[in-house]
Amino acid sequence: MTIRALCIHGHFYQPPREDPLTGVVPREVGAAPYRNWNERIHAECYRSNAVLDNFERISFNVGPTLLDWMVEYDPAICRRIVEQDRANMRQFGVGNAIAQAYNHVIMPLATSADKRTQIAWGIADFEHRFGRRPRGMWLPETAVDLETLAIMADMGIEFTLLAPWQADRDDVDPTEPYRVALPEGRSISVFFYHQGLSGRVSFDPSLTTNADAFALHDLPAQYHPEKLRRGEPHLLLVATDGELYGHHQPFRDLFLAHLLKTASAQNGIAPTFPARWLREHPPRRTIGIRERTSWSCHHGVTRWMDDCGCTPSESRWKAHLRGALDQLAGALDEIYIETLHPFIADPWALRDRYIHVLLGALPAVELIDEAAGRRLPEDETRRIHMLLNAQRERQRMFTSCGWFFDDFDRIEPKNNVAYAAQAVLLTRVATGVDLAPAALAALRRVESHRTGLRADKVFAKHLRRAREYGERALTLRVDDPAKK
Ligand SMILES: [Zn+2]
Repeated sequence: MTIRALCIHGHFYQPPREDPLTGVVPREVGAAPYRNWNERIHAECYRSNAVLDNFERISFNVGPTLLDWMVEYDPAICRRIVEQDRANMRQFGVGNAIAQAYNHVIMPLATSADKRTQIAWGIADFEHRFGRRPRGMWLPETAVDLETLAIMADMGIEFTLLAPWQADRDDVDPTEPYRVALPEGRSISVFFYHQGLSGRVSFDPSLTTNADAFALHDLPAQYHPEKLRRGEPHLLLVATDGELYGHHQPFRDLFLAHLLKTASAQNGIAPTFPARWLREHPPRRTIGIRERTSWSCHHGVTRWMDDCGCTPSESRWKAHLRGALDQLAGALDEIYIETLHPFIADPWALRDRYIHVLLGALPAVELIDEAAGRRLPEDETRRIHMLLNAQRERQRMFTSCGWFFDDFDRIEPKNNVAYAAQAVLLTRVATGVDLAPAALAALRRVESHRTGLRADKVFAKHLRRAREYGERALTLRVDDPAKK
């Protein structure tokens, strides 16, 4: 029996880069010799780790929006990643991949209906890619609140991973999972990662130059002395950005391979992953969580809504962008509900199931007729489908990366604004209601401190380009339900 277990968790994710009008990722100069950052990180990290079979030995989540891109760009590597999860299924009866909330939104800042959609879409996407139900789910930026955990548990998710400071006690022991009690007698398991090791693996490259030394000196020092003395199995969980291994830090894909294939075993340390660990070591203790906290902001979730000390310069624009998009979301939702109400009893349940259309698993017309309980006239079906597409854009306009950095004039926040404009455009064509004037007025206050670029200009530019595209601006992203 292994006393000392090790789990390396990699969070693999890239924000959506594609232009909402063309679906194409634009060329990014900084990523040369590759066409864009997705391609470059793929070569340096996703592909190399897949080829080394590292995805079989770590615990991991890959963002649905990233897998969506990868399955087109390099389907063989995508299959290989899935196959490495299956290898664990065959050997242990549980897999090591976990799901991710779909659009990488900061869940505590989302509406209750959005939380449900993000979790439902994340689960459906995982099932589609991995061919099984997910047991665990990664919360974007590990941003957490009890409502999110309750919805996850409600949808069958058994565990998540958090930073130790997200526990409501300072004496949390990260070498074992805890149980978080939820309303109505439900609960969810939480693994807290090892703060010191995770931080150093992430930010101190000198620690990971030699996997043998790491397994011989650095890991053993961190195991729980009391538990070692009692001969009690326990776990070190290191959670990091997966792109660290090969992209942010060259050769760390090789470090990972040697550590998990050879060096750990030679030092009496056994690699494992949360679903496997939970079967033999269910939580023994209950803990509360600090709501509205995350792993990459030490001011709760302020980084994604206002100025905070985590970014170098003043970033009040974040509050204005959050406010403008929240206001727009409310207006879009009102129109969505009002338009669907005569035909669809539960428009939010329909939106939750729309992921199956996005995955190409179900024709839109079938989904909409099923929700309506009858065959709707073609123009109504088309209107509803267009509004569902607007809801898809409305979901991704909240992609967390739009608020992560200190400046507005970057691809991530500008994309969020373009997705917002596309949602407004689709809604106008579907219903005749134009939310653009109100959105433009609210977005005027969002300005780059570096270049002076304003969000209303980005929004207007998208609408102008959409006019140039004409019908294609709508048909590219909205399949004609009659054709399905
Ligand atoms: Zn912060």
